[in-house]
Amino acid sequence: MIPAPFDYERAESVDDALELLGSGRDAKLLAGGHSLLPLMRLRLARPELLVDIGRLSDLAYVREDGDRIAIGALTRHHDVTNDDLLREANPLVAHTAGEIGDPQVRHRGTIGGSIAHGDPAADFPAVLVALDAELVARGPQGERTIAAGECFSGFFETTLAPDEVLTEIRVPKLDGAEWTYLKFHRRAQDWATVAVAAVRSNGSARVALTNMGPTPVRARGVEEALASGADPSRAAERAAEGTSPPSDTQASAEFRGHLARVLTRRALEQVLR
Ligand code: FAD
Repeated sequence: MIPAPFDYERAESVDDALELLGSGRDAKLLAGGHSLLPLMRLRLARPELLVDIGRLSDLAYVREDGDRIAIGALTRHHDVTNDDLLREANPLVAHTAGEIGDPQVRHRGTIGGSIAHGDPAADFPAVLVALDAELVARGPQGERTIAAGECFSGFFETTLAPDEVLTEIRVPKLDGAEWTYLKFHRRAQDWATVAVAAVRSNGSARVALTNMGPTPVRARGVEEALASGADPSRAAERAAEGTSPPSDTQASAEFRGHLARVLTRRALEQVLR
């Protein structure tokens, strides 16, 4: 289908984007366009104004920031996958970007767009939750930092305000921590039916799940079981606790629960070996 009519403005800077977002019209930021434009074509989104931030090259970077790595929100998935610093300091994030879609999607889609879109089947959100990442947003009142675990509030909903621009994602250096992201999907380029991110550092493990509810889910039951001395197999039995997976054409909720337990066991066997 053809999108409903809309106006288009190209932002020259973040300040410019903020001004356009505050113009009183129903405005939406356009980054890679790989989630927003399909919604517009289906007329599930009908913004009056598209504010194109896709050319803000000063928001496309990966750099060291103390004990963290800072990733600009406009960094494309392809560049996240291939960045030498990330591959060295946080290979989980680099690996996850390489799991997204196909080469065309990875060349256009951005990490910031993936987070702001709030798709429960997207790959980055659970990984960022497992990593205790920080997100930086700028709005009319200035800059604020949001814990990744506080960002995803519902089905395609985040705690980013409509007049805020997500500018940066900060992830820890893994410094030899064990990590994995296991994604189950029917075809190589598909979204996750279910996926699990696991990180083990300083003697404890953090586990988060993709597509087991309207938001990424931290598998607290699994983490508690491990802390109490359970082995991967026993701990993974608690993977679906507190989740509300969807039933759709990809899988039933019951099958998703099964996948969560199997993938979590495999993930724990990898990070705890
Ligand atoms: P856009 O589509 O431009 O924007 C998405 C939303 O985020 C919009 O509401 C926009 O206003 C908002 N937004 C964008 N940038 C910002 C910002 N800096 N601050 C605040 N709000 C912002 N994703 C996966 O995770 N895994 C997959 O396997 C996968 N497969 C895909 C397969 C196909 C065929 C397609 C088309 C997409 C797929 N995606 C997948 C989604 C892809 O990763 C998107 O690129 C991504 O979700 C959105 O990024 P974008 O830059 O394209 O954002």
